[in-house]
Amino acid sequence: MIIDFHTHIFPDKIARRTIEHLSGKGGIPAYSTGEVSGLLERMNEAGVDIAVTLPVVTAPHQFDSITKFACEINERYRSRLISFAGIHPACEDIKGKMRLIKELGFLGVKLHPDYQGTFIDDEGYIEIIKEAERLDLIAVTHSGVDVGFPDEEVKCTPRRILRLLERVRHPKLVLAHLGANEMVEEVLDTIAGEDLYLDTAYVLRATSKELFTKLVEKHSADKILFASDSPWSSIKGDVEILRSYGLSREVEEKIFSKNAKRLLKIQ
Ligand SMILES: [Zn+2]
Repeated sequence: MIIDFHTHIFPDKIARRTIEHLSGKGGIPAYSTGEVSGLLERMNEAGVDIAVTLPVVTAPHQFDSITKFACEINERYRSRLISFAGIHPACEDIKGKMRLIKELGFLGVKLHPDYQGTFIDDEGYIEIIKEAERLDLIAVTHSGVDVGFPDEEVKCTPRRILRLLERVRHPKLVLAHLGANEMVEEVLDTIAGEDLYLDTAYVLRATSKELFTKLVEKHSADKILFASDSPWSSIKGDVEILRSYGLSREVEEKIFSKNAKRLLKIQ
């Protein structure tokens, strides 16, 4: 079984337009249409069974509409897609919103410091992550450089994660992009080995076998999750890259599915 822990989709009405905009903003190609059908095609092509979809609430007022869309995905595509909810650190009543997310049956929330214009060690995120821990919800955050914001200070760096960890500990905190996009060497020297998960979204193409192996050794294969970041990477291509690293069957199985099954409570 293969689980892709980090993908993005948009409502059909706005998907193609949104992908075109984001693709232009970041100067990166898209490997899928951004629609559900596009993601399912890419999953089938790569032999991926289940994908986690991660919505980004870029402004507090989007909370309701994004929650509704995410609920619809979970109802309609239950066997293949698991959508997390999204929340913004400037949302009012974070406790109430996190409780609602739990009551609606979501397994986790997505945070994106760069798109949300807020540093990861901000009080809003600390409250969200504390609530996630209390409610047993997974919290996934973008981490490291975001290609859409080339001239801005990076909002979630390994050093800021260390500061966050002084305030809140959550064993189901997932840092995307192997802990920090374009800063994986720094991850090795700082947060590798902490009690949190790292996903492989987007970065596999830029990560050598040597660097990946070092990270697995230092962080533990039990805390790494296979993820593509589709449509911003090719799911099939990323599966092939991970297989090319020559990891043991046991380690591969943990990264491709076992760790994700444990987090998502899949038997
Ligand atoms: Zn992403």
